[in-house]
Amino acid sequence: MKKVVKFGGSSLASAEQFRKVSEIIHADKDRRYVVPSAPGKRSSKDTKVTDMLYDCYSAAGDADALTKKIAAIQARYQEIIDGLGLELSLDEQFKEIRERFEQHAGSDYAASRGEYLNGIVLAAYLEYDFIDAAEVICFDEDGVFDAEKTDGKMRARLAEVERAVIPGFYGAMPDGSIKTFSRGGSDITGSIVARAVHADLYENWTDVSGFLVTDPHIVQNPETIETITYRELRELSYMGATVLHADAIFPLRKEGIPINIKNTNRPQDPGTLIVESTCRQPRFTITGIAGKKGFCAINIEKDQMNSEIGFGRKVLQVFEENGISFEHVPSGIDTFTVIVHQSEFMEKEQNVISGIHRAVQPDTLDLESGLALIAVVGRGMRANRGTAGRIFAALSHARINVKMIDQGSSELNIIIGVRNEDFENAVRAIYDIFVQTQL
Ligand code: ASP
Repeated sequence: MKKVVKFGGSSLASAEQFRKVSEIIHADKDRRYVVPSAPGKRSSKDTKVTDMLYDCYSAAGDADALTKKIAAIQARYQEIIDGLGLELSLDEQFKEIRERFEQHAGSDYAASRGEYLNGIVLAAYLEYDFIDAAEVICFDEDGVFDAEKTDGKMRARLAEVERAVIPGFYGAMPDGSIKTFSRGGSDITGSIVARAVHADLYENWTDVSGFLVTDPHIVQNPETIETITYRELRELSYMGATVLHADAIFPLRKEGIPINIKNTNRPQDPGTLIVESTCRQPRFTITGIAGKKGFCAINIEKDQMNSEIGFGRKVLQVFEENGISFEHVPSGIDTFTVIVHQSEFMEKEQNVISGIHRAVQPDTLDLESGLALIAVVGRGMRANRGTAGRIFAALSHARINVKMIDQGSSELNIIIGVRNEDFENAVRAIYDIFVQTQL
């Protein structure tokens, strides 16, 4: 068996955390390829090393400030090195980093050093080989990740070593300059490594025991999801549930490699297993509930709309021309509604309205802002009677007016639109009916 293990920033924020990580890795000889993040926060008031690096780079023109800021970053690593009792000096690396900062090597280069240095420390501590991600993660001239080139290079390089640490978050462009993924991108590196070595499992170690059924800021101590499919996860992440970077799913999905979200501080917890498909039924009919506030509905009415071929295309073209992506388009016989992110829409509002008037001459056009969307997601809803009924009964019981309903034909999710101020209560009501009452 081959496992790829990725550890997030909070799992590697201090010497104590490094010790836990080492114990986890040594507890299973299949954990052969390790992808670290940069040291994260040690407490809620702490600063992530990645943020310290961005900040430090912005002071690159001021020699004194640079000296101070680099010293603070080096101190974070030194504390870990000393705490682990390692004989390791990063002086050379920090000298080079300073030089490159002064030459304006770019903020991607700056941010990537967090993972790079942490990789060196972790490799030394575990006595694993260190492989610089710049050697094996490739971006093209335009800075777009090159999946196929990376896969070939990574596979060939990893075949030469039995065990290795590959820092997360960055790679290199053809001219050698460093490029990072978006924030949280070490998850993506982990999944790329897992794909390249045809791993049996990709373990993503973090500070929570898996995906929760819903947001713990809304529901106290929600239950953990035991098993979730890639598609369900995509729906939930899209609607704001975080834990794993959304782009980390794609490379694994191609290979059907399962992901296990695990907690470094509670390794005994089973965590959440993310799979391509499963016959395991979810515990509660629904798998998860996620949602976001801040949507806006553009309601268009026109008599005889139903017989006007091309109506929808003309309306949507106006959004396309204004560079606005739409979320949902519920429609009736003579009504057509487009739901968009309010923040994206606001700047272009008047252009869109006049564009729609020109394109389809509606009878009325009105805007409704302050909407929240809630996605109730679950493979268990398919072929299961009454799910929608239970959702709406719960919402009605909580005296919440439903503004919009959208159920895709996949029956994997039901999207409900409510007013922003009803959002939290609506999520609680749905959680209660499916989870709380079933415990
Ligand atoms: N260190 C990077 C960040 O803070 C990447 C990661 O942790 O995944 O975004």
